[in-house]
Amino acid sequence: MEYLKQRIRDVYDFPKKGIVFKDLTTLFKDPRGLHIIGWDLSQLYRDKGVTKVVGIESRGFIGGSILAFELGAGFVPVRKPGKLPADTIQASYDKEYGKDVIEIHRDAITPDDIVVLHDDVLATGGTMAAAYELVKSMNPKKIYINFIIELSALNGRAVLPADAEVTSLITY
Ligand code: IMP
Repeated sequence: MEYLKQRIRDVYDFPKKGIVFKDLTTLFKDPRGLHIIGWDLSQLYRDKGVTKVVGIESRGFIGGSILAFELGAGFVPVRKPGKLPADTIQASYDKEYGKDVIEIHRDAITPDDIVVLHDDVLATGGTMAAAYELVKSMNPKKIYINFIIELSALNGRAVLPADAEVTSLITY
């Protein structure tokens, strides 16, 4: 885990003053770092029968794709509005200033699926809670929630469903 931590860059005052942004691009560009992420994430879900990994736009597409590939599962994107071409369902959630909306294709998940919902960072938890509601409305057999980084000071777990199994590789 130290290897991964050493390659995550702190960017001060991004996207605005006072925020210390965890920049994963410095980890993703490192071949060994990328390999370790794929391996470590997949070890968490090896025997769970996962059929789909759902990644949240846009940084969740990177780890989510690698995890899906490692598990032999399919990959499904959750995107911002207007980006997915076919019929979608939407969820809205509160951000610091106003509301945000995310979408998923209506036929992306079926009741046979066992799903891992993946994003790069858990901050306040609003994004993942909304994505969970979207996937839940499609009635899969099981939904796991996964992050590369969890910012524990923001207590994002508190807004995630109490019965959800949540894992993260690195906690700050
Ligand atoms: P939340 O909804 O507050 O949990 O914010 C999570 C979303 O914001 C995720 O999609 C992250 O990609 C993004 N995010 C929040 N903080 C950071 C950070 O420090 N580094 C990278 N992404 C972040």
